[in-house]
Amino acid sequence: MSGTSTRPGLMRGIGIGRGTAVGPVLRMPDPVPDPSDHPSALAPAEEQARATEALAATAAQLRERGQAAGGTAAEVLDALAMMAEDPALAADVQHRTEDGATAEFAIHAAMTTFRELLAGMGGYLGERAGDLDDVARRAIARLQGLPAPGIPESATPFVLVARDLAPADTATLDLDRVLALITTDGGPTSHTAILAREKGITAIVGASDAAGLMDGDLVLVDAENGTVERDPAQERIDLARQRTATLQAIRAASTGPGRLADGRAVPLLANIGSPESAREAAARGAEGVGLFRTEVLFLGAEKAPSVDEQAATYRDVFAQFPGQKVVVRVLDAGADKPLAFLTDQGEENPALGRRGLRALAAHEEVLRDQLTALATAAASSEAHVQVMAPMVSTAAEAKYFRDLAHELGIPVAGVMVEVPSCAIMADHVAANADFMSIGTNDLTQYVFAADRLLGTVSSFQDPWHPAVLRLIEQVGRAGAEHDVPVGICGEAAADPRLALVLVGLGATTLSMSSTSIADVRAELALRTFDEATELAALALGADSAESARAAVADRIASWPPPVL
Ligand code: PEP
Ligand code: MG
Repeated sequence: MSGTSTRPGLMRGIGIGRGTAVGPVLRMPDPVPDPSDHPSALAPAEEQARATEALAATAAQLRERGQAAGGTAAEVLDALAMMAEDPALAADVQHRTEDGATAEFAIHAAMTTFRELLAGMGGYLGERAGDLDDVARRAIARLQGLPAPGIPESATPFVLVARDLAPADTATLDLDRVLALITTDGGPTSHTAILAREKGITAIVGASDAAGLMDGDLVLVDAENGTVERDPAQERIDLARQRTATLQAIRAASTGPGRLADGRAVPLLANIGSPESAREAAARGAEGVGLFRTEVLFLGAEKAPSVDEQAATYRDVFAQFPGQKVVVRVLDAGADKPLAFLTDQGEENPALGRRGLRALAAHEEVLRDQLTALATAAASSEAHVQVMAPMVSTAAEAKYFRDLAHELGIPVAGVMVEVPSCAIMADHVAANADFMSIGTNDLTQYVFAADRLLGTVSSFQDPWHPAVLRLIEQVGRAGAEHDVPVGICGEAAADPRLALVLVGLGATTLSMSSTSIADVRAELALRTFDEATELAALALGADSAESARAAVADRIASWPPPVL
């Protein structure tokens, strides 16, 4: 829960991972707003000169950054610099300033036109269309004397403080420089949090008080306790480092497949979003994939990817898991992950809109192509490929998806249970699905009617709450009655103690960011199924998330301590 605690300089948020970090703060500039079309007070020639200077300086800055970074980044940034120097763009900007536009608006409007042109070309050029926005925002920031958008640069390591990060920013974080990440917005299941967990970045999200931190402030970030401390005393730093070292020792001692102390197997699977994260997951000992977020592959694409293009990527992922299960989620477009070719524009409440399976059913050709690509890739792979549908809300949708997947050659087709109606009707859903996988991130968001991306309501985004656990128990029971496996693929599975509770509620597999597998494996190995069931009953009987956590912690503390 966010808010200031009693210790001066202590801020609270939601910790991601269990790490600690100490370092100076560097703030990420707020996004540059789009300029408005008000007439210029300057002469057209002056506006033209401002625009030319801003574009040239942006190109130079991008090249400089590229040269400093080297490798692929240099090529990418050089391509962006060339966009800023494009003569056709310069001509368009000039026409607009001659017509009385400000340099800011001329650049914004010209870039928008070019963006649409590129997007219409499709393929590689189409995918680069979004880069033009980045170039435009940089040039506009320069014109307005604002800092360049994006992750700030520093020769020395720092703790990054931001309102939230775009997926692309999180994905390109330089882990040698960014010691930890603090966001003032976003909850534990925002995509920033998910990517931070995936990359093993120590992070605190939803720390609204961190908005008051300034560049250069020294902070101690403690992800396990969800705190950020300004100007920490040396003994606080030492204590935090010691705890991290003990946790690392426990983690290092745990290897092999997931199982409880009584030998009951609980396969530990990975949540992935790309071939790279698949490779990392395999290296970290994941026993397969419980959630492959395929939409992440196509976030910048203007057009639906072809069957062949998709099949090649899927083959690459499947090759990492011979003989193991890979559960592929078909495109979950909408809300914070809009896909140009699937998502309706202008929905007022996109989280409640035509998203997930609803969007796919409205564009069935996209769903058919994806299932065909998956079936083709699966046929030439040794992985056991299964598919599942996101945002299923009725048993009829479950049946629609299963029938289509079976028709197109994928024999195991399940549903994500992340909409409360699906959990409430789990017995009927189970009769129409080959498996169920509970998405605790969205399930919590919808149970509490609290946007999972919004820092001001992030305290509701807590899967320990019995309101969520009761639904999970219901799904677990329906799965057992229908002999349908019940997995968990939301971030709740990455919390070691909650993972135990989930097993006690009937989860048969757990899927999480692969960086969390070792911690969860270590915790499960300490307890029997009977103990997990007892913890689940305690959590279910609590009246709040806090008391559920406390009841479980107290019970665990009453058992003999683990022997290292
Ligand atoms: C979920 O909602 O719990 C889930 C796993 O899906 P995503 O986080 O991608 O929405
Ligand atoms: Mg979801």
